[in-house]
Amino acid sequence: MDTGIITTDSYLNHDTGRDHPERADRVTVIIDNLKKMKSKSLIWKKPKKFDLKYLQLAHDIDYLNSVKDSFPNHGLSFLDGDTILSPGSKKATIDAVGSILIGIDGVMNKEFKNAFCAVRPPGHHAEKQKAMGFCVYNNVAVGAYYLIEKYNLKKVAIIDFDVHHGNGTQNIFYNNEKVLYISSHQYPYYPGSGNANDKGNKNNILNVPLNAGTKPHEFLNAYDNIFKKLKEFKPEFILLSAGFDAHKDDPLAQINLESKDFYTLTKRIMSIAKEICGGKIVSILEGGYDLNALKDSVNYHVKSLTED
Ligand SMILES: [Zn+2]
Repeated sequence: MDTGIITTDSYLNHDTGRDHPERADRVTVIIDNLKKMKSKSLIWKKPKKFDLKYLQLAHDIDYLNSVKDSFPNHGLSFLDGDTILSPGSKKATIDAVGSILIGIDGVMNKEFKNAFCAVRPPGHHAEKQKAMGFCVYNNVAVGAYYLIEKYNLKKVAIIDFDVHHGNGTQNIFYNNEKVLYISSHQYPYYPGSGNANDKGNKNNILNVPLNAGTKPHEFLNAYDNIFKKLKEFKPEFILLSAGFDAHKDDPLAQINLESKDFYTLTKRIMSIAKEICGGKIVSILEGGYDLNALKDSVNYHVKSLTED
């Protein structure tokens, strides 16, 4: 079976201003490169409109209203020091969420076996009532709620291998035993959260802090613990917060993965997913700020998703 690639060009109109690391080129290089693969194993899909009630499961209504009022008619507006909105952000932010929902539908309906969403803005820093770190809506959190509400799943796991801790995802699921949130991240580092003692109120959070300078084998070894917890939890579906900023060339952090390590990591996740949830995985782009490293790493990640 094939791999879904969910994307649409509204991300181009999410303008974060000059010299912002979270820029449109990030997704453009990914899409151009995946198209070049000319792989028959890729099924390209666009996000669709969705019922906004799913957004309200992850975010407070007051927060959603304040975001809605913040989209500028022209120029830029700031939700925090580095989370910026332009007129085109309204559609881009909704399409980022819509993409993960289409990816989930495709996997649940067996249209493809797994999916990758090439979208921006990212989502994992966005909390229930707060935008943060380039993130407006928490795309992956809405995806997890969608699986629980629409498909009646009892257990969903989110694996977040972005180099930053997903404080937003942790915040949203802190008291929710249906969702296991796992994050590997450089620590101490932005955003400051994610120490190993923080396990959530239902022992449903696994934080795996890594020192600056962590080498590929150390990073991959740290996943042994993660996979143990994942197997114990036995999720029915796995969502990936796929950030590629743990790459050695990434300007925003100091972990030393090479592009091919994302192949190995994805392969290992897939093998466990096959064992415990029929291989059901939807992956969504989070960070990754060196364009070449990002392009190559996503290439390895998607190549792995397409293989058996
Ligand atoms: Zn990141």
